[in-house]
Amino acid sequence: MNDAQEQLVVRNLTKQFTLADESLSILSGVNLTLNRGEALAITGPSGSGKSTLLYILGVLDQPSAGEVIQFNQNPFTLDAKEQAEFRNQNIGFIFQDHHLMPQFSVLENVLIPTMVHKGSSTDAEERARHLLERVGLKERLNHRPAQISGGERQRVAVCRALINNPRLLLADEPTGNLDRTNTEAIGKLLLEINQEQNTILICVTHSSELAALFPQHQRLRDGQLVTESV
Ligand code: ADP
Ligand code: MG
Repeated sequence: MNDAQEQLVVRNLTKQFTLADESLSILSGVNLTLNRGEALAITGPSGSGKSTLLYILGVLDQPSAGEVIQFNQNPFTLDAKEQAEFRNQNIGFIFQDHHLMPQFSVLENVLIPTMVHKGSSTDAEERARHLLERVGLKERLNHRPAQISGGERQRVAVCRALINNPRLLLADEPTGNLDRTNTEAIGKLLLEINQEQNTILICVTHSSELAALFPQHQRLRDGQLVTESV
């Protein structure tokens, strides 16, 4: 399937940071095309630009140059409000340290991205309960993040990223703080959801164990993506 409506296309993407009059080139020509249903792991040493790339794909940071087309739309041509809407409707983002709100329950945390849409709260809550059940957290709905384990917190973060049915699911070191067993469990969960919901999944990780679970694997080297044989 090569329908542009269903694709992520990145062309010659670059990113420089300017620090104290010095320009630092972090991404220097990233190219990538992924279709719905595809899953890619991106590895690279610390500081190689993995988070920088993922934040740009998540429309949380601007590219310096190049093109990012998501589902036939270049989100960087949109104004701030449209961009926020685009992100909310299309992209789920999983952060390394889960970014859950400590004062909210598990269920409330999953519902946060739905708060911007008014009027669909009962549907959203049903969906949140369903997702939490799907990841094995049926008994944890009313717990606070501090009352559950690290692996459970990351599963809550997965549900929150999925609550608006994103077509693009991005995970930045989702198992960075987890042990081997939980790393494998989160990796398998992401890949199952990728298939069930027909998302594009990109997972950035320094864990070769996690990357090995993925059908596609690329490495960031000198600011560019190079294919790793699996
Ligand atoms: P990774 O996720 O692979 O560890 P990052 O994308 O976080 O790498 O960072 C890549 C490089 O870009 C690092 O050298 C980092 O210091 C630098 N960097 C990241 N964000 C900024 C920023 N906002 N300003 C300046 N330099 C940055
Ligand atoms: Mg990083």
